[in-house]
Amino acid sequence: MTKLRVECVQGDITQQPDMDAVVNAANARLMPGGGVAGAIHQAAGPGLAQECQALAPIRPGQAVISGGHALPNRYVIHCLGPVYGQDEPSDQLLGNCFRHALGLADEHGLRSVAFPAISTGVFGYPIKEAAAVAVAAVVDEGAALNSVALVRFVLFSDSDREVFQRALEASGYD
Ligand code: ADP
Repeated sequence: MTKLRVECVQGDITQQPDMDAVVNAANARLMPGGGVAGAIHQAAGPGLAQECQALAPIRPGQAVISGGHALPNRYVIHCLGPVYGQDEPSDQLLGNCFRHALGLADEHGLRSVAFPAISTGVFGYPIKEAAAVAVAAVVDEGAALNSVALVRFVLFSDSDREVFQRALEASGYD
C-alpha cells in the first residue's frame, strides 16, 4: 500500500483527464442542474443522466458510481452533500461523502480521484468549514485504502484552492 498523495489545484472538475474518476456534487435525483452537476452532465452527454436514473435517489452523505461517458474519466462518483443548516449533523454527512466516494473508488481498483468542494455552492457550506471536514475525511479514509494513490481537490477559484491548501497543511498531512 503506497501512501496517499493529496493535492489542491485551481480548475474545472470536467478537465481532469489524468484522473480515473471525478466526483459530482450531485442532487438527490442525480440529474443535471447548476454548478458541478451541470458541468459534469454537459461534458458527459445524455448517457450519464440515463444511467443515473437507475441509481437515484440518493441521501445526503451517500455515494454511487457510474461510467464517465464522454468525460475523459472512466468513472463518475456522485455524492449528495448536506444542505448547510438543514441536513444534520452536517459535518458527519459531508465527511461521509468523501469517505464513501473513496471507498467506492477503492472497491473498483481506481488509483486517482478528483473531488470538487461538495456543498460549498448552492448548498451553502462555508468554504473554511467544508475544507477542514473534507481534508480530515480524506486523510482518515486514506489510511484504509489499497488502490487509491492520488486524491486531487479541484477548486473553482484560487481563493478556495488556498483555503483547501491551508486546511491540508493544518492537518499535518504532507
Ligand atoms: P453543492 O450543491 O454541493 O453546493 P455546487 O455545484 O453548487 O454544489 O458547488 C460546489 C462547489 O463547486 C462550489 O464551490 C462551486 O464554486 C464549485 N464549482 C462549480 N462548478 C465547478 C466546476 N466546473 N469545477 C469545479 N468546481 C466547480
